[in-house]
Amino acid sequence: MAERTFSIIKPDATRRNLTGKVNTVIENAGLRIVAQRRIQMSRAQAEKFYEIHKERPFFGELVEFMISEPVVVQVLEGDNAVARYREVMGATNPANADEGTIRKLYAESVGENSVHGSDSAENAALEIVQFFKPEDIVG
Ligand code: ATP
Ligand code: MG
Repeated sequence: MAERTFSIIKPDATRRNLTGKVNTVIENAGLRIVAQRRIQMSRAQAEKFYEIHKERPFFGELVEFMISEPVVVQVLEGDNAVARYREVMGATNPANADEGTIRKLYAESVGENSVHGSDSAENAALEIVQFFKPEDIVG
């Protein structure tokens, strides 16, 4: 079933000029980039986006990281896009990520792990509206 997910190319990847390389892995996996924008996330946006992690010890560090450099926010579309993109990203900690995944190829550490992808279709919908207007997504 065609589905949409929300993706962020994180600051460690944009800093190393890896946007195109990450997008190649995404497209080779059969996912279509139907919206994309490079932005400087504000502190308020990052805190809201990662609200579910606010009690975690790494929350402060995570917010500082996400606002440290520009990010690329994206909407990806394809069959089972949420699960498919989680597969393509690889494990949160690159040390545990499978060969060929974005995090195995490019991530630097568990914190600076190159990409975000929604963990459910419900969260994907909530995350997409935080960054995109409906008319800016052209499937
Ligand atoms: P994301 O939500 O970014 O797609 P994820 O779902 O694989 O990643 P989560 O458990 O939701 O992982 O954690 C959110 C983000 O918080 C991680 O991607 C990572 O950047 C950061 N993070 C998670 N665990 C740690 C940790 N132990 N130390 C530092 N940062 C962490
Ligand atoms: Mg997550």
